[in-house]
This record gives sequence, C-alpha cells and structure tokens, in this order.
Amino acid sequence: MKNIKYCFPLIALFLFNIIGQVNAQEKKVNIPTIKLNNGLEMPQFGLGTFNTPSNEVAKEAVLVAFRSGYRHVDTAHAYNNESAIGEAIKESGIPREELWITSKLWPSDYANGNTLESINKMLERLQTDYIDLLYIHQPVGNYEEAWIEMEKAVASGKVRSLGISNFDATDEGFHAIVDNMKIKPVAMQIECHPYAQRKNVQEKLKSYGIAQECWYPLGSGNKDLLADPVIKKIADSHGKTTAQIIIRWHIQEGFSVIPGATNPDYIKENISIFDFALSDDEMTAMRSLNKEKRFFNMTYEQVKEMATNWVLED
Ligand code: NAP
Repeated sequence: MKNIKYCFPLIALFLFNIIGQVNAQEKKVNIPTIKLNNGLEMPQFGLGTFNTPSNEVAKEAVLVAFRSGYRHVDTAHAYNNESAIGEAIKESGIPREELWITSKLWPSDYANGNTLESINKMLERLQTDYIDLLYIHQPVGNYEEAWIEMEKAVASGKVRSLGISNFDATDEGFHAIVDNMKIKPVAMQIECHPYAQRKNVQEKLKSYGIAQECWYPLGSGNKDLLADPVIKKIADSHGKTTAQIIIRWHIQEGFSVIPGATNPDYIKENISIFDFALSDDEMTAMRSLNKEKRFFNMTYEQVKEMATNWVLED
C-alpha cells in the first residue's frame, strides 16, 4: 500500500499516452485531396521533414503534426530520419490507411540492382507494409533500371504510386520515365514558391497529367519572401501570417505542398489555412511576385557529386 505513491507517475504517463493517441485520432482538419493519375487521392498538404536536426526532433515534429490534423508526411532515405518517422507513425496509433507516407530512393539505393532490397529496408525503417508514394529522388545513376524495379514493388503491393523528384534538371531523364515506362509518375517534386513559380514546368506537368508537389514552398524559410510587403498586406487583411498566405496560395494553385517545420508553433500555424480563401485579385497579386528566383542553386553536375558522397542511415 505504501508503494502506491510511486504508481502515480506511471499511471499519469499511461493516461497521457492514451489521451495523446486519442487526440491524434480526433483532431480533424478537412484537407483537400488531389486525384492522381492512378486514381488515388493524396492529401494536398503535408509535413516536410528535410533537415531535421535529430531523430528525436523529427519524431516529435511528426507527432505534433498528427495531433494537429496532418495525415501526410514527406521523408526520404537521404534525410536519415525514416526510422524516427516510423516510430511516430507507430506511436500515434492512427490507422495506417488514414495516413499518406511519401519517401524517396537515393541514387545509391538504385545502383547495382539494389532497388527492391532498398525498398524492403525502407519499409522496415518506416515500420509499415507499404509506402503511398515512392519517388526517385534524383535523376542520377541508373534511374531507368530502378524504375522497372519500383514497378515490381507496385505489383507486389509494397508501393502504391511512383513519382519523380528533381527531373526538371534533365529533359532526357523526364522523357525516359514519362514516355517509356509502363507505370507513369503520379507526381513530380520540384522547388516552387511565389518567387520561383516554375511556370514552364507547371505547363509541362499539366499536359502530362502529373501532379506538381512543391518543395521549399516557403523558400526554405527565406526572410525576404516571408517579409514580402505584397504578401504581408494580404496576410494582415485576413489576420494570417505571410507563411499561411504562401501555403494557401500553393493550395489554390492546385499544387501539393509539404512545408517543413520542427517548431511546434509553425507546425500548427501551417495547417491553419483551411478556414479562409484568397480572392482572384489576391491570387493575381501573388502570381505577380514570380521572378523565377530559385533558392537551391546547385548545378546538375554538383548534384551528381553530392549523390555520390551523401551518407545514409542503414
Ligand atoms: P520550406 O518548407 O520552404 O521551409 C522550411 C523552413 O521554414 C524551416 O526553417 C522552418 O523552420 C521554417 N518555417 C516553417 N513554417 C514556418 C512559419 N510558419 N513561419 C516561419 N518559418 C517557418 O523548406 P523545406 O522544408 O526544405 O521544404 C519542404 C519539404 O520538401 C522538405 O521538408 C522535404 O520534405 C521536401 N524537400 C524535397 C526536396 C527534393 O529534392 N525532393 C528538396 C528539399 C525539400 P523550423 O524548422 O524552425 O520549424
């Protein structure tokens, strides 16, 4: 009986976990979906997880996101946080079919016939039986052979959709996959934000029925973009932040958008964009900001070198 006081913290922790799980399941946000060219519906908005400073931070960010209503998470083998995200998925208690999990194969994953083994390891790290969308991360190395192996993973149910990432860097790579492969990419990930709206790529993707998913949607947190006076004026008139206006602009352009955040306040702020809309005039003002100014400025040659030297978790 006298030991009962030692039980209280454990009971409290147990209840906290239960409440946490229920909260993760109960917070409902009506996130629109994009109908992909394979018929699947992908939540148009999700959490990006590039550059998370540690596995603990990555896991906590995903848990905060789930509790705030996010159901779509974007990761990659190269981010070295898939195992943390796998833990968050498991701990959240959210039924797997309510989540949309995207990951990406790095060039070393598709070298020397490694693709299927790499996908198996990815599933283990993410603690899941399937990935909703699997991208080829870079148009580097033997991506055509890898794609054929990825098609086998779709056939066996380990992957539901395939996508290409950064294939705006090479027309040859884009057409090798889009024109010649049995399974068409459902989406292409590219850098895109109000200062680099990627008009040419937009048109190209539309003509092929491929969804555009935007990375660096906030310009990687660029201060000038987030303080832009045109965006600020729109933000003030809606009682929103500039980041929220930018994300809302992505949504109304029809892009899929995956802002990255580890700060819990930003995570919550970024999803609070489904209770207002930008007018036609505001959309025109946002479009007028385009100067095709990218924030990621590595050349294709430099990306090839980076792909060779990147260190990956097992
Ligand atoms: P981003 O979303 O444009 O910006 C992230 C930065 O903005 C972080 O520093 C974040 O801060 C900050 N931020 C987030 N919300 C904010 C807010 N409401 N107010 C002010 N600052 C805010 O850039 P990203 O994360 O690099 O890109 C998005 C996702 O795209 C990535 O996370 C990744 O999943 C994917 N991606 C893919 C590729 C590819 O090659 N396919 C390349 C890059 C990124 P805190 O971290 O401090 O919260």
